[in-house]
Amino acid sequence: MTAPRVEIDLDKIRYNTQHLVHRLDLHDISVTAVTKAVCGCPDIAKAMLEGGAIGLADTHVENVDRMRAADIQHPICLIRTPMLSQADCIPPICDASYNTELDVIHALGQSALRANKVHGVILMVELGDQREGILPDDLSAFALKVMEIPGISLNGIGANFACLSGIAPEQQAITRLSDLASAIEEQSGLPLKIVSGGNSANLPLIFSGAHSGRINNLRLGEAILLGVDPVSEIPIEGLFTDAFNIVAEVIESRFTARRCEAPAIAPVSQHNQIVCIHDHTRRAIVAIGRQDTDIEGLSLPSRLTLIGATSDHLIVGTPYAPLAVGSEISFQPNYSALMRVMAAPNVEKVTRDRRHAGRGKSAENAHPNQERRAFIDAQAL
Ligand SMILES: *Cc1c(COP(=O)(O)O)cnc(C)c1O
Repeated sequence: MTAPRVEIDLDKIRYNTQHLVHRLDLHDISVTAVTKAVCGCPDIAKAMLEGGAIGLADTHVENVDRMRAADIQHPICLIRTPMLSQADCIPPICDASYNTELDVIHALGQSALRANKVHGVILMVELGDQREGILPDDLSAFALKVMEIPGISLNGIGANFACLSGIAPEQQAITRLSDLASAIEEQSGLPLKIVSGGNSANLPLIFSGAHSGRINNLRLGEAILLGVDPVSEIPIEGLFTDAFNIVAEVIESRFTARRCEAPAIAPVSQHNQIVCIHDHTRRAIVAIGRQDTDIEGLSLPSRLTLIGATSDHLIVGTPYAPLAVGSEISFQPNYSALMRVMAAPNVEKVTRDRRHAGRGKSAENAHPNQERRAFIDAQAL
């Protein structure tokens, strides 16, 4: 197999989706699975749908194209406010999109009419993340205008939390979103199908028994893919945290005989965590770098220390045992490392799917929430 590569366990992704779908179903909340971090990888999207997600969501039209080309027929929603310049190509492939600008919604309506479709719109309301959103006080009037636009159907409202601000949502925000939904319905006399309460950062609040109010949908990416809460990075009970492994190959392995003083860090290398190496420390170079992933987002095997990285080299200290040239090392990515590596063209993506292969132990029988662990390939020791 080629290196570097990402090994993707589809059984674990399917299991994580299923687990979240079941738990949220108890609160009458459906799951829309978010595929942006994996560039709309069709195999992963299919595993999420098999796990019970009602539909998919992505931020990039190109990713949606990739999923449609792989014959995925389920509803797909664009969750980044569409670019005006792309309005034409969205209604033909997306059932709905999240919006905050009237000009864009008008353009989407025109495009939908030309495609002989009705395009669904979910209005994003700003409730504290300070990223996208219509201000709460303007929402009802905005919604009434959207309802008048030909080719458009107002499907609902949504909010987003913790992405820009890093602040988890609180009960107050959920209640506010619910009240806004009710106010729009009262003024328009029409029911809203979707009240989408947020992303993976909402899960701790919902699972702690908070009132979910009118919320009937969440858009989940990180919790499904990595099994963690994005705000704390703490594993969510019952989920696999090791569905993804990045594997890279050792290309140099040496003793550093001389003491190496840590150089004064120039601005360009501020991110290279240069550490002072003691006499006779072994180090190895691994063929992966900043162009491939977010190096600081990798968890290293415990026997290795991070010395630094450049665009295409990762240098690790190997104090316990040398790493053989040609051996492979596995790393577990956090969200930032995952999204970068999935977008890197020179990193191969390898999926494992025991359910569809019909052999081997299924992930359902394995134990989720094993300690986040990275391992050194046996031959590397
Ligand atoms: C990325 C994104 C999500 C998914 O966030 P996760 O933290 O990965 O669950 C949901 N909604 C919007 C609008 C997003 O941009």
